[in-house]
Amino acid sequence: MKKFYEDTLEALIDASIGWNQTGHQVLKAKIRDLIAETDEKWAREQRKDCLISQKWRLQDEVDMKEVAADLALRRNCMVMVRYRLEQIQEMKKAVEKLESEIRFLAMDPTRVREDQITDEMIQRAKEVDFRQLHEFDARGWGLCPFHPDRSPSFHIHTASNRAKCWSGVCNWQGDTIAFVMEREGLKFHEAVRRLQ
Ligand SMILES: [Zn+2]
Repeated sequence: MKKFYEDTLEALIDASIGWNQTGHQVLKAKIRDLIAETDEKWAREQRKDCLISQKWRLQDEVDMKEVAADLALRRNCMVMVRYRLEQIQEMKKAVEKLESEIRFLAMDPTRVREDQITDEMIQRAKEVDFRQLHEFDARGWGLCPFHPDRSPSFHIHTASNRAKCWSGVCNWQGDTIAFVMEREGLKFHEAVRRLQ
């Protein structure tokens, strides 16, 4: 998707030769927004790069202030030393904040997702009616999706919202999350999200 938008961007810029600079900037910003909406990983990378350059700029300023504080100290100008040290402390806090967000953005987004699964989400996922996920008759019997089944041997237990295959062939049993994981080949956190 990113490649598609990048190609589109290039094509549009080629087509817009003769436009003024502002037109180009607006176009570029719009397409960047589009990419960010459709490509989360790309958006994270962009933000990370931006924060890293902010961090270096700030770090440079801290270095400059440290030189200034040192100079003030040698001149024995204690008011100025205190003022510079306060500035430095504030800026170092800002650098730390940036660093922690950069670390967060550098994490694998799928891991972040995993971390963001809450107990409430798991509960909600378990409470999704099994009948919404698979076809059962009025008495709760359906064809088992996990083995070639001719007569319905897959049964839901309504009270616990779990299902079990009674065929004696595959003996699958589980809740809605396990069902979606198995049928769609998803990881636990992906299945939980799917069921929200
Ligand atoms: Zn089965």
